[in-house]
Amino acid sequence: MMTPRDACRSCGQTGLVSVLDLGRMPLANALLRADQVSGPEPAYPLELAFCQRCSLAQLTETVPPETLFGHYVYFSSFAQTMLDHARHLADELIAFERLGPDSLVVEAASNDGYLLQFYRDVGVPVLGVEPARNIAEVARSQRGIPTLTEFFGEALAHRLREEGRRADVFHAHNVLAHVADLNGFVAGIRLVLQDTGMAVVEVPYVKDLLDHCEFDTIYHEHLCYFSLLALDELFRRQGLLIHDVRRVPIHGGSLRLYASPVEQARPRSVAVTALLREERDWGADRADCYLALAERVRVLRDSLRGLLGRLKGQGKRLAAYGASAKGSTLLNYCGIGRETLDFVADRSTVKQGLFTPGTHLPICPPEKLLEEMPDYLLLLTWNFADEIMRQQEEYRRRGGRFITPVPEPKVA
Ligand code: ZN
Repeated sequence: MMTPRDACRSCGQTGLVSVLDLGRMPLANALLRADQVSGPEPAYPLELAFCQRCSLAQLTETVPPETLFGHYVYFSSFAQTMLDHARHLADELIAFERLGPDSLVVEAASNDGYLLQFYRDVGVPVLGVEPARNIAEVARSQRGIPTLTEFFGEALAHRLREEGRRADVFHAHNVLAHVADLNGFVAGIRLVLQDTGMAVVEVPYVKDLLDHCEFDTIYHEHLCYFSLLALDELFRRQGLLIHDVRRVPIHGGSLRLYASPVEQARPRSVAVTALLREERDWGADRADCYLALAERVRVLRDSLRGLLGRLKGQGKRLAAYGASAKGSTLLNYCGIGRETLDFVADRSTVKQGLFTPGTHLPICPPEKLLEEMPDYLLLLTWNFADEIMRQQEEYRRRGGRFITPVPEPKVA
């Protein structure tokens, strides 16, 4: 069921350089029911490789998307940070692209309609594309967002184009890194866009991963780890020009690209040329920075295990916060499980009552924190640290402490 590969997902070059091997791991979002905890649990290799031709960092193996996303449990709307980010972006595009009742906004991986709702609310027609059946159903029934239950790609884009449904604005947030057929996805963007249209694409930025040692953002769902250099080549190959770029502080640090058909010849912003130059300066086009990351990851693991072991030795009670995918990579790679952590608290009601993959921590509602008052909480969703610390003010007031694991373990 796994597809090992030696050819680059973007440019097809063979001979990728292996830079970081995290070993075999369960799927990061494959939460278990109580009756599954003692059963067999599939595990897959998790290894990062680098293409020396187009500078794309990528996983060497692909788990079929149906296995990964059929019952995806991440609801965007549970995080207030995400909603604020979405509202702000929609307002900006409505104004700058002069969107109205004759426009169309299409989003790939539209989740529960968390972004499209802000267009719909002011009368701009929208279309969501979301492969996870349970989440697409929430978008349709609870938010009234028309949503196709499909994977976005070249085939769907052809169909929409033939039906005359072409987008003035196309969104793809936090999805491109999940796509096995990169070229097909980006070709699909070009097909579905109006000739005057614009695509807004957000991906976690590999520079943030490297700077902050965010190795836990590496899991099977994330096939690619993008620099602007790698994206620039990919988009040009499919007839799109990245005319502007911004770094946004979401998901541990992301790049937001603004891309348009090359024929439009929108002028390239200074931000694009400056960031491309900066990337060549720090070596985004060389394997060395990834090999250095691998060494820092090993140090982080020893340091975190040491810290938790010392606290445990002092008789402290430990738990975790946030049953996230990145938490799965962190715990499984570091070998931290029930011998160390009593449970993991999470606000998402669809996760509560389940168990974390590989490590089998019970997932509990956050109320359990005040009932049990563990001395320390390992913060697995450090990308929402400020929001979570505010929500858990009472736990902290009563003496509870947080441990943030990256860029190096620290008691906060
Ligand atoms: Zn390549």
